[in-house]
Amino acid sequence: MKPRISTDNPDQRMPKTNDRRPATAQPSTRIGYGFDSHEFRPGIPLKIGGITLQHDKGLGGHSDGDVLLHAITDALLGAIAAPDIGALFPPSDPKWKGADSVIFLREALARVHDSGYGVANVDASLILAAPKIGPHAAVIRTRVAELLGVHSGCVGLKAKTPEGLNLDAAAIAHVVVLLQKARQKRRRTKSR
Ligand SMILES: [Zn+2]
Repeated sequence: MKPRISTDNPDQRMPKTNDRRPATAQPSTRIGYGFDSHEFRPGIPLKIGGITLQHDKGLGGHSDGDVLLHAITDALLGAIAAPDIGALFPPSDPKWKGADSVIFLREALARVHDSGYGVANVDASLILAAPKIGPHAAVIRTRVAELLGVHSGCVGLKAKTPEGLNLDAAAIAHVVVLLQKARQKRRRTKSR
C-alpha cells in the first residue's frame, strides 16, 4: 500500500530539491572567531587588551602588537563576513607601524553596527608564559567592555600558560564573539 500524502499538511509534503527557503543575510545572531599570535621582544611596551602591562618584553609585529585586541577585531570582522584585520590594515603599510590597536577594534565595531548588529558577549583565551594575567584580568575586561560598549560581565577572559607547547616566546589569543541584531541601526560616530 502506497503511503497517502496529503499536500494540505505541510509536514507530509514531498520535499522538492528546489523547495528551499531563501537564505537570509540577516540572521538574529552571528558568531565570530579570531586568532592572533605575536612574538615577545625586549625593550618594547607590552599592550594587552588596550592596557600597558609592566614586563621586560613587549609584543612585536603589527602595530602595537596587542594580540588580544587583534583577535577581537578579527572575531568581529569574521562575524559579519568582512575582510580580516590584515586586509583592512596591512602590516606592510608603514601607517600602522606602532599604531594603537584600538583604532582597528573601533573600525571593526563600526562595521558591525553598520551591518545592523551589536555585541552580545565576547570570550577570550590568552596563552602566554609571562607575565601573569590574573592580577590584571579585571582591568583588561573593563577596558575591553568599554571599547565594545558592553557590560564587563559580558567579557570573558581566561589566561593559560603554554604547557607542553614550547611557545614561551609568544603570546596567543583565541576569541569568540556573539553578535545580535540591533533593535535600531546605529550610526557611526566621529569620535574615532
Ligand atoms: Zn596581531
